[in-house]
Amino acid sequence: MKEVDYIIVGMGIAGLVFSKTLRDKGKSFVIIDNPNQGATKASGGVLNPTVLKRFTPAWNTVEFVSKAAPFYESLARDIDQQVLSGVAIHRILASVEEQNNWMVASDKEILSRFLSPEILKNNNTAINAPFGLGAVTQASIMKPYALLKTYQDFLKNQDLYIEAQFDYQELVVTKTAVQYKDIRAAKIVFAEGSGVVHNPYFTIDVSPHGKKVFVGNKGEYIIIKAPDLKSQAILKGPVMVIPLGDNLYKVGASYGRDDYSTTTTKEACQEISAKLSKMISCDFKVVDQVTGIRPTVKDRKPLVGCLQSTKSVSFLNGLGTRGLTMAPCLAGHLYHYLENDVQIPEIMDIKRFV
Ligand SMILES: Cc1cc2nc3c(=O)[nH]c(=O)nc-3n(C[C@H](O)[C@H](O)[C@H](O)COP(=O)(O)OP(=O)(O)OC[C@H]3O[C@@H](n4cnc5c(N)ncnc54)[C@H](O)[C@@H]3O)c2cc1C
Repeated sequence: MKEVDYIIVGMGIAGLVFSKTLRDKGKSFVIIDNPNQGATKASGGVLNPTVLKRFTPAWNTVEFVSKAAPFYESLARDIDQQVLSGVAIHRILASVEEQNNWMVASDKEILSRFLSPEILKNNNTAINAPFGLGAVTQASIMKPYALLKTYQDFLKNQDLYIEAQFDYQELVVTKTAVQYKDIRAAKIVFAEGSGVVHNPYFTIDVSPHGKKVFVGNKGEYIIIKAPDLKSQAILKGPVMVIPLGDNLYKVGASYGRDDYSTTTTKEACQEISAKLSKMISCDFKVVDQVTGIRPTVKDRKPLVGCLQSTKSVSFLNGLGTRGLTMAPCLAGHLYHYLENDVQIPEIMDIKRFV
C-alpha cells in the first residue's frame, strides 16, 4: 500500500499548480491523469491581465497576476526551464471612438498599469490597422503543452505521476481518509477540468435554482503559416493571433457553449479564417487545428473547496477562460483551507452552489 498526503486527479494547469503548492509545503502526493484530453494543452498560453473587448481589467486581476508571476518563476527553477516570457499584446483599434475609449481606459485605476496610453502607429503592411494599435503591458505567455510534458517527466522520474483514467467506482472515502486501489491518502483533490461532469462526487450538476452549474465551453484554434506576417507581438482583433515562431501562428479561439465534443470542426476553421482575413492582408495557410473544453461555470467564477463538511474530497475547477493566470492563487486558497482552515473567498467557494 502506498501512503501519501494527497491524491490529485487530473493534471492540466490546476493539478500541476496544486501539486507544486504541495511540494513547496513538503506534502506528499500522487497525480492520476489521463493526458489525452484537457483545456490546458490546447490553450493559447496567454496571461493577459485585461479584457480587450471592452478595455476593462480581468476579474481580480491584480491578485491573480501578483501570485502568478513569482509562482511560475519558482516553477521554472524547479524544472530548470523557462516557463513564462514577457510578450506584447497589440489590440487593433477599429475606429476613432475606440482610440478615445482606449485612452480613457489607460488612465483609469488598475488599468493604467496594464494599458499603455500611447497609441502605436502600425508600420506592418501585412496588418490592417489604420486606427493604430493599443499596447498591453505586463502580459506574458507560456507554452502549455510543452510545460505539461516536461512536468509529467519531472514527476514520473519521482514516481509521482500515474498515467491512467481515474475510475471513480474504485474510490473509497471516509471522513478522515481516502483509498484508491493500492493508494491511501488523507485527501483527494479533483482537478479534472471539464471531465468533472463524469464525477459522481460532483453533486452540484444543477444549482438549487435549477440552473446548470458547469457549462463547458469548447474552444478551437487554427494554426497558420504566414511567412509575410512577421509579427512578434500577439495581435488582438476579432480573433487573437499568437506567434509561435517559424512563421507559425495560433489563431482563435472559437466559443461553443455547453459543447463537450472533442473533434475539430470545419465551421470553426472557416469562422476563424474569415475573422483573421479582416485583420491581416498577407497570405496564410491553415496547417493544423486544435481544440479543448474550457471548464466554465454559469457565474463565471471558479469552483474551489469541498461540497461536504469533511475535507477528504475537494475540487479545484471552474478555471474558465483564464486558468493560467488564476491557478496559482486558487491553489493557494485551496491549500490554506484544507491545511489551515482559512476560509475560501465566498465568490469562488464551491459551497455557494450547495
Ligand atoms: C482553445 C482554448 C484557449 C484557451 N486560451 C487560454 C489562454 O490563452 N490563457 C488562459 O489563461 N487560459 C486559456 N484557456 C483556458 C484554460 O485553458 C483553462 O482555464 C485551464 O487550462 C483549465 O485547466 P484545468 O487544469 O482546470 O483543466 P484541464 O486543462 O482540462 O485539465 C484536466 C486534466 O484532467 C484530466 N482528466 C479529466 N478526467 C479525468 C479522469 N477521470 N481521470 C484521469 N484524468 C482525467 C484531463 O484529461 C486533463 O489532463 C483556453 C482554453 C481553451 C479551450
